[in-house]
Amino acid sequence: PAVPVGSILRAAVRRWGSRTAFVDHDVELSFDELGARAAAVANWLAEHGVGRGDVVAVHIPNCRQYPAVYYGVVMAGAVFSPTNPLLPAADLAAQLSDAGATVLVTWDQVLPFVRSALAATPVRTVVVTGEAHTLDFGARLEGLDDGDVDLADLLAADPTDRRLDAGVDPAADLAHLAYTGGTTGVSKGVELPHRNVVTNVLQSACWTSGSVPELDEAGDVTLRQMLGEDEYPIRLGGARLVNLTPWFHAMGAIGYLNGMVMAGTTTVIHMRFDPVKYVEDAVRYRVTSIGGAPPVFVALLQVPGIDDADLSSVRGISSGAAPLPVPLIERLQALLPDAVIGEGYGLTEVTMMATGNPSFRSGTRKAGTVGVPIFDTEISIRPLGGGDALPAGERGEVCIRGPQVMRGYAHRPEATAEAIDADGWFHSGDVGVIDEDGYLSIVDRTKDMLLYKGYNVFPRELEEILFGVPGVAGAAVVGRPDETAGELPVAYVVRRDDDAGQALTPASVMAAVNERVTPYKRLRDVVFIDAIPVSAAGKVLKRELAARERETAA
Ligand code: ATP
Repeated sequence: PAVPVGSILRAAVRRWGSRTAFVDHDVELSFDELGARAAAVANWLAEHGVGRGDVVAVHIPNCRQYPAVYYGVVMAGAVFSPTNPLLPAADLAAQLSDAGATVLVTWDQVLPFVRSALAATPVRTVVVTGEAHTLDFGARLEGLDDGDVDLADLLAADPTDRRLDAGVDPAADLAHLAYTGGTTGVSKGVELPHRNVVTNVLQSACWTSGSVPELDEAGDVTLRQMLGEDEYPIRLGGARLVNLTPWFHAMGAIGYLNGMVMAGTTTVIHMRFDPVKYVEDAVRYRVTSIGGAPPVFVALLQVPGIDDADLSSVRGISSGAAPLPVPLIERLQALLPDAVIGEGYGLTEVTMMATGNPSFRSGTRKAGTVGVPIFDTEISIRPLGGGDALPAGERGEVCIRGPQVMRGYAHRPEATAEAIDADGWFHSGDVGVIDEDGYLSIVDRTKDMLLYKGYNVFPRELEEILFGVPGVAGAAVVGRPDETAGELPVAYVVRRDDDAGQALTPASVMAAVNERVTPYKRLRDVVFIDAIPVSAAGKVLKRELAARERETAA
């Protein structure tokens, strides 16, 4: 759609007005108030010379002021570049330099640490916020340096929406400069114009509503659904959610910030994941959906008394960012028999989302798959070494084409050329297979694949079986270097706290898995561990486990 990202907020303010958009520490923020504070931030930035093309890095955790900062940046026409607030100083400095960020919005508690990272970066203006602003947008922060700016100044600026973004070219100007998770290697900057963001927010909304958006003469998705009473694609208005998904990540920024604002959802913000508190608030706010990455669901199912919690208000459960094993789906469905479990697949490079399960149009759900392409998106499976599309049933690299595919990686023309081919297909680095009905299953990531005596072993296949072994709460399979075999499949397993979990031994786990797989895929060892390391976005950090294996082998 040829509109800037700010249109999403403007439409939401018009439509949802005084309804509560966000709740944090029991303090509320209405859609009206969010619109005014975002305009204030945009006006302050413009007055200080920050506008089109300027990169504003946002280095804060999810909090009530985050949405005002986010929309303020994009409504000023500037580029939103989020960082993971837990990044080590050296990585933060590298990302800020790579992004060319001139403004940094950061958190008072980490200020000394952040300052030490700024010297060699292009950052000139440091805007500081903290929990004081979460409670009161007008609070003055203490302990700032002379040059630092208090976010209270931005939030208190003129709240008139001057439509500073009217001059942006939605197809060409960047709204986000997002960084890949860095799960498998170096984190790369992904260039996403306004058009990508608006399109992917609409595409995911059309997926959940089962509708197909209208097209205008240019073939663009129109925004009528967002504006018109009857055509509105999602009947969510009135939905409530406790959000854990970090907004610095694709699933957070697109699905859980823009998506929820567009849908008029009331979002209760939890900065940190405390499973017990999550369940308490889910009951207290009578949430209508539960969403996040799979580790969230693993933790929730372990909350004492979860079976007795009144979660009868929950209508939907949505998962993304990492594989959702079938045994986990079954446990969730047993807990909440009436909830529809949805799963999305995507990457930062496709803004957020490319496929969804179930197909809300046909109503068909296939557990264990990531579903069918969302509106205006094509998927094809190509041989790993390159070549033409493979037929249904054959494994290969998942390739994606659609309006949500990134423009490219920032300053990495070779990486961009490798990722997006001449026909516009983005090569995802994921191994997948499409069935006869067009449903995609993710087999694994090419980078996680193991080579045992020349055979490919996909850890995910073994993890799927491990999740079904009674007593197993979590599992991850990595390769152990071995002189003769190359790599041996080794499982890291978290045991449940119950009798079944405590009865497990490495031998019993190996036996349960190995009787179900062809010999070359067999597990060669099982290591019990207290917790599987996961990233803030909910992805298993296999490189940490693999490094452990390399150290043991050395
Ligand atoms: P990097 O590419 O820098 O290692 P990253 O892969 O963590 O970082 P993201 O863009 O956050 O960066 O993650 C995208 C990846 O997440 C996909 O390539 C895929 O492997 C995985 N993924 C996302 N959704 C699903 C899903 N529903 N099922 C299985 N895997 C998924």
